[in-house]
Amino acid sequence: MTENIPPHAHCLMCGKAVPVGETLCSEECRQKYNAFLKKKKIVWYFFLGLIVAFTVIVFLSNK
Ligand SMILES: [Zn+2]
Repeated sequence: MTENIPPHAHCLMCGKAVPVGETLCSEECRQKYNAFLKKKKIVWYFFLGLIVAFTVIVFLSNK
């Protein structure tokens, strides 16, 4: 016995079923997702800055 589940996707934030092509179920989740992306970007820039700072320190201490 196989259940016939119509094609669907899941909301990236809360996991609710959403129509195919959609990634978020509501405006609330969209806002949460945007905030999440922004935070992720800040962490990424911070990480990049750390690598640059580390490289500069290593470069300077080798002289
Ligand atoms: Zn959602």
